[in-house]
Amino acid sequence: MATLLAPIVLDPAAAGTAPPSDVEAVGGNPLLGEWSTPDGVPPFDRIRPEHYEPAFDAGIAEARQNIERIASSRARPTFANTLEALETAAPLLTRTQGVFFTVAAADATPEIQKVRAAVVPKLTRLESDIYQDQRLFRRVDRLYRTRDRLRLSPEQARLLEVVHRRFLRAGARLGAAEQARLAEIDQALARLSVQFSQNLLADQKGSDLYLTEAEMAGVPEALRASARAAAAAAGRPGLFLIPSTRPAVEPFLTFATNRAAREKVFRAFNMRGDNGNAYDNNAIVTEMLALRAERARLLGYPSFAHFQLDNAMAGRPEAAMDLLRQVFEPALVRVREEEAELLRLAARDGLNRIEPWDWRFYAEKVRQQRFALDEASLKEFLPLEGMVAAMFDVTARLWGLSVHPRPDVPVYAPGVRVWEIRERDGSRIGLFYADWFARDTKQPGAWMNSIRVQSFLRGETPIVVNNCNYTPPPPGGRATISVDDLRTLFHEWGHALHGLLSRVRYPSLSGTAVYTDFVELPAQIMEHWAQEPSVLRVHARNADGAPIPEAMLEALARARTFNQGFLTVQQLSSAILDLELHALPQLPEGFSVRAWEAERLQALGVPAAVGMRHRLAHFSHLFGGGYAAKYYSYTWSEAMDADGFDAFRETGDVFNQEVAARFRREVLEVGNSREPAESYRAFRGRMPTAEALLRNRGLAPGGARSAAAD
Ligand SMILES: [Zn+2]
Repeated sequence: MATLLAPIVLDPAAAGTAPPSDVEAVGGNPLLGEWSTPDGVPPFDRIRPEHYEPAFDAGIAEARQNIERIASSRARPTFANTLEALETAAPLLTRTQGVFFTVAAADATPEIQKVRAAVVPKLTRLESDIYQDQRLFRRVDRLYRTRDRLRLSPEQARLLEVVHRRFLRAGARLGAAEQARLAEIDQALARLSVQFSQNLLADQKGSDLYLTEAEMAGVPEALRASARAAAAAAGRPGLFLIPSTRPAVEPFLTFATNRAAREKVFRAFNMRGDNGNAYDNNAIVTEMLALRAERARLLGYPSFAHFQLDNAMAGRPEAAMDLLRQVFEPALVRVREEEAELLRLAARDGLNRIEPWDWRFYAEKVRQQRFALDEASLKEFLPLEGMVAAMFDVTARLWGLSVHPRPDVPVYAPGVRVWEIRERDGSRIGLFYADWFARDTKQPGAWMNSIRVQSFLRGETPIVVNNCNYTPPPPGGRATISVDDLRTLFHEWGHALHGLLSRVRYPSLSGTAVYTDFVELPAQIMEHWAQEPSVLRVHARNADGAPIPEAMLEALARARTFNQGFLTVQQLSSAILDLELHALPQLPEGFSVRAWEAERLQALGVPAAVGMRHRLAHFSHLFGGGYAAKYYSYTWSEAMDADGFDAFRETGDVFNQEVAARFRREVLEVGNSREPAESYRAFRGRMPTAEALLRNRGLAPGGARSAAAD
């Protein structure tokens, strides 16, 4: 095992130590001027919400002017005067977007939401104007057709291919009437997608449940306290508010002993978007599916799934489905074993079948019995500060990178922290902003984004951000996180490293600008180090400084494959139905989303007690976000991260320097400058199989026991 480097010292809260930013504000607007800030970071201390819209307007005007110059140029198209010129055509807009969308996700005050509503349509219009501009397309297309004679570097050839494809997918080759229809479809889809999300939010609110003391029996004190406070705040003191959100519903279903209450909570959550009321999403889903199928047909694809996956590593729906089937079949076998085991326990309570609202409850009982693993006492050994130190420690052991607090850098909200990331030789790589705690104005979930992407062409170093929604520490206390949170911490840091370690020339190909089914690889592979015992032994300590007990570490490792049949079938039934639905060339007459979903689940053999993780009427990934026909991406990336981590494990040292260097060089540094399949093969020497994924989930032949031992 590699030796531990010197422990990393975390900076104390850095608020108030930064000097005022040095900016030349144009007309009082710092977003419009030159920034002489350290490393050219955004002067967050001087930016106010009212500065954004004028900066967007000026940035869009500048972009339109520059792009018009490229499109109307009489000079013969060259790579430099067309492709490179496009890459640098919108400096002000690019800089403004990086700053604004960081804040819009992490601190969306009403003022910021108003700006967002105002600028998003302008940005959408700019984009369609660019990619449907025939003059521009003719220049790009001419370069593309003569590409073999242009003596391009591999990265230039890749940029040409990526940009050319963007034009084609936006309909640049279609006639005027078809282009107009495409634009109409896109506008309709954008509107329906917003409506889907708004319906879901409204229906979710309408599904909030106010429970009584008796219905709350068995629920842990922390959840009870917040549910009681929430009900009181909503004017119903004495009751307990359980909102129909996953973070509230899952723990309730895990611990509540009142079976009727579990059923009530499950049904409210499961029926979101499908209640036949004003917020019902079934008609919207049907309309979106029809429009998507038409869009794909206009562009010459057999189905929307074919259109989507043509721009993905999988390439074709059949390839994605093939992997899903390989994982789904053994998971189905496992889930039936799990169901039988739960039923044995439930029979003692007089149950003769497991219903969907029983699964988590009895699974938790089995888990406690078998592994003696108690989430609450585990958490005491997982302080956020210690886990961040662990994350930086892992990074140092793998790549020799070091981190240095930068309290001089202004931040957009209190509590955001900034580090500079340096190479082994001390040279600077980029900046990392961390915003880990929940706040009212923050989107749910966790994510990484870039304030500035790495690019040699623009001479810019990366600035990346990680966001989570951890519970803030009690006053004077320390923040602790769960094992899930710990994995999320490492996951987002993996995305951050993908952005930080990028070494490409063109911003369009930088860092995380890769296919959806490849982008999770760097993030998911980092999760494997989150539970590495040699790391936890050092950094996982309770408030008295005592290290995590060995028995707890062992239980944690053994419990890794527990309940994986359930989790896998839930996730994969969602992925399979997504692919099947979007692979329909057109919807049959009288199509019913609800009936189709029920019929397919039954045909696949999904047990009623398990179901889908996301039912179609509330499947935001597909109808409110960008994952239509792409929910398989998580599994696709998992096949790679499991197989990729094996490359480390096979050497007998998960910190093997040679493998780490190869992963950095072939995957993290290259961004989208070549086909991801090529990158993976360069790292691993071959393409992945599903074998490691199945083993990690305890689904390989031989089963959970062998996997639990590793
Ligand atoms: Zn991710």
